Parts: sequence; structure tokens; C-alpha cells
Amino acid sequence: RVQGRSWAVADLDELDAQHRQRQLALEQALQSALNNDEFVLVYQPQLDFASGRIQGCEALLRWHSPTLGVVPPAQFIGLLEESGRIVDVGAWVLREAARQAAAWERAGMPLRVGVNLSARQFMSPRLTADIEAALHASGVTPALLELEITESLTMHDVEHAVALLQRFRALGVSVALDDFGVGHSSLAYVLQFPIDVLKIDRAFVTHVTRGRADRAIVRAIVALAQALGVETIAEGVETQRQCDFLEALGVTQVQGYLIGRPMTAAELEALARRAPGA
Ligand code: C2E
Ligand code: CA
Ligand code: CA
Ligand code: CA
Repeated sequence: RVQGRSWAVADLDELDAQHRQRQLALEQALQSALNNDEFVLVYQPQLDFASGRIQGCEALLRWHSPTLGVVPPAQFIGLLEESGRIVDVGAWVLREAARQAAAWERAGMPLRVGVNLSARQFMSPRLTADIEAALHASGVTPALLELEITESLTMHDVEHAVALLQRFRALGVSVALDDFGVGHSSLAYVLQFPIDVLKIDRAFVTHVTRGRADRAIVRAIVALAQALGVETIAEGVETQRQCDFLEALGVTQVQGYLIGRPMTAAELEALARRAPGA
């Protein structure tokens, strides 16, 4: 043992090595995931207060690795982003979500399907073509495909972002500003973007029943959304009490474990077909 090195440091080194090994294993397994059809989408329902119905959902990526089991997005999206492979995976997500939205539409149950865009994808010159291809192949009504973007995506190059969002608008797809309120969102900033939905981050929803400050923030976001004529979706709603508060504050839709966990397309369809209040 090197003199002066404590056990704690040795343990940390060991943990570090384990972490690196795990990252390496993930990275290796990820390389073939797309070609081997290991990715699937699950759908989380969004309840609309006015109609009392499920009117949309968010498509969330899941990786079923034969060697590592089900790996949550937090553990692999970053890796895909680093290697740039997120652009190909993102194109697959767009195609798959559009295909599902088209199937529901043909079944007489139009549901808006939200898709998360990553930073690399947003900067990619392929993005518009990938969206067009997904619309074309599926035949879905474009407005039923909703692109979820975050501030961090748009911050670096606002002009590029505005131009891109205008192209989305021309294609007829919907745009949601995700995780709203947690970044540096200024009023001036959000006013520049042609969007359809503001998604209120779970951070505010969690405490909406407790703190006056969080309630004030939600109230301010709702007022902003109303002034812009866009909808609001509150994320991470887990309790009936939160849901009631959000409805009273004028939020138009809610998403969270209370309404439903991310589920298969068949499960979402069954849930959406149920009559309101049933
Ligand atoms: P996000 O876009 O903010 O998605 C919402 C996350 O909150 C999801 O985690 C969802 O399962 C979780 N969630 C929903 N309701 C509740 C609730 O009531 N309580 C709590 N505690 N959590 C709730 P998930 O599926 O693990 O996704 C994590 C993140 O990974 C997403 O955050 C998104 O940034 C990213 N992601 C997921 N799918 C994709 C994808 O297809 N493409 C890209 N680029 N990113 C994705
Ligand atoms: Ca999202
Ligand atoms: Ca979010
Ligand atoms: Ca989030």
C-alpha cells in the first residue's frame, strides 16, 4: 500500500473502476441495440381537464438489453448523445411514434403523441427530413405528432431554434416546451418561439400543495400560457390533491403516475377508450 492512502480512497478507486466498467459494458451493448430492435416506446397518458379524457401521451424510450436487462433512459441517453448515435435512434423514435399515432387515428381515437428531441438531434441537419419521413411513412395528421424541446436545446443558438421551429410549424406538427420553469426561461425568450404547449416541470408540481412560492410560479406560467394562447401540461402529478390544485390554478392537462405510468400502446388505448370518470 502506498503510504498515506486511506482505505476510503482505495474504496473510491474501486467504485470508480466499477463505474467505468459498467459504462464500457453499456457503451458496447448500445452499439447493436438499434439494429437488434432492442428499443421500445412506452406511452404515458395526459388527461385533459375540460373533456375529462385522455387526449395525448408522451412517448418514452426504453432499452431492453438481452445482457443488461431494462436500462432506464437516464443511463443511456447521455451515452447515445456523446457518440452521436442519438440522431439515428431519434429518427427511429419519430417513425415509431408517428406510426403509433397514425394507427390510433385510423382506429377512430386520435391521440397526440409527444416525442422528446435531444440536443444533438436538434442541431442535426437531418432533423427536418427525419420528421417529414416519419409523417410521410405513417400518414398521420401532422398536428398529432408533438415535438418536445427543452430550453437547453434552444439556448445556444436562438436564431437557429426560431428558424427550425418555424419549419416545424410549416410541417404542421405541434411543439411543446418541456421542463418549463427550471431553466433560465425569461418571458422575452419564450415569446420568440412558435409553440403550442408549455409543460410545467415536476419540480413545481411536487410542491404545489405545500408552498405559496411554487403555487405562484404555476399561476404565473398558466397566465403566460393563456396570454400566448397555448396549453399547459403539468408533469409528475402523483396525488389527487396536486391534481385538484393544478385544475384550480387553470392548468389544462396533467401527466403523471396518478393518471398512469408509462405503458404499452395497447394499455394506453384501453385507458383512453374508457368513458370519463369510469
Ligand atoms: P422527461 O422528458 O422530463 O420525461 C418525464 C420523465 O418523468 C419520464 O422518465 C417519466 O417516466 C417520469 N415521470 C412521469 N410521471 C412521473 C411521476 O408522476 N413521478 C415521477 N417521479 N416521475 C414521473 P423516463 O421515462 O425515465 O425518462 C427520463 C428522461 O429521458 C426524459 O425526461 C427525457 O429527457 C429522456 N427521454 C426519454 N425518452 C426519450 C427519447 O425518446 N428521446 C430523447 N432524446 N430523450 C428521451
Ligand atoms: Ca419530455
Ligand atoms: Ca419533462
Ligand atoms: Ca425532466
